[in-house]
Amino acid sequence: MKYVGAHVSASGGVENAPLNAQTIGAKAFALFTKNQRQWHAKPLTETSIAAFRENLDKVGIRLEHVLPHDSYLINLGHPEPEGLEKSRAAFLEEMQRCEQLGLSLLNFHPGATLRKISEEQSLRLVADSINRVLEQTQGVTAVIENTAGQGSTLGHRFEHLAAIIEGVEDKRRVGVCLDTCHTFVAGYDLRTETACRETFAEFDRVVGFSYLRGMHLNDSKPGLGARVDRHHSLGQGKLGWEVFRYIMRDGRFDDIPLVLETIDETLWAAEIAALYAIS
Ligand SMILES: [Zn+2]
Ligand SMILES: [Zn+2]
Repeated sequence: MKYVGAHVSASGGVENAPLNAQTIGAKAFALFTKNQRQWHAKPLTETSIAAFRENLDKVGIRLEHVLPHDSYLINLGHPEPEGLEKSRAAFLEEMQRCEQLGLSLLNFHPGATLRKISEEQSLRLVADSINRVLEQTQGVTAVIENTAGQGSTLGHRFEHLAAIIEGVEDKRRVGVCLDTCHTFVAGYDLRTETACRETFAEFDRVVGFSYLRGMHLNDSKPGLGARVDRHHSLGQGKLGWEVFRYIMRDGRFDDIPLVLETIDETLWAAEIAALYAIS
């Protein structure tokens, strides 16, 4: 069974996200549990947490099909002690918010070297960051998203994801989320059925489908290997529909959140319907 949705707004409170998901016909969704451009947030209130659970129940979306995304400010591979500590503290706070909400996943971008340390060193710091945070939390899996590889960011090679997982002690609580736009602009072709078969076979060989906890379904404005992160609406970018057809018809993508982060939210309902129509 496929669980498709979008990264919906949580403005006015996290409890609004399930309702926003329902209006577009989503069976899964992503959200920010706090403002993604700020370091700090007010703690979640008991009322808000209870309303979130109640609304999930009401719209029939299960906790395991919610894929929260962390703040863009966090860099778990930060080369400097101060930045690293700040990121680790903020990431712990994000994991604790998920814990409070009863969510089992937290999606994050691994980090960036800022060209001050090697990729290997930075990847090691990311794994250490995850270890520290997993030790202090329960029940939430750290879900590493592959990236477009803009600037000095880590995570654009499947090998980066594998290296982080390798350094994580509790392998049951680490996973990955593949973003189709990021995968493509990072240099892995997904434009044809053959290309999809090869790219996902490489992912399986290097990382393993057993670690796949979610997908971001986005078309791409830039071309193959551009290393620039610009999403597009499905079928309107350089990817086209084939990859989405492939994913919707492949059992390896069953039972995990498949989340749109496409640029025109007025199209989300139609995009979700179109995806189910080709499954
Ligand atoms: Zn992301
Ligand atoms: Zn994404």
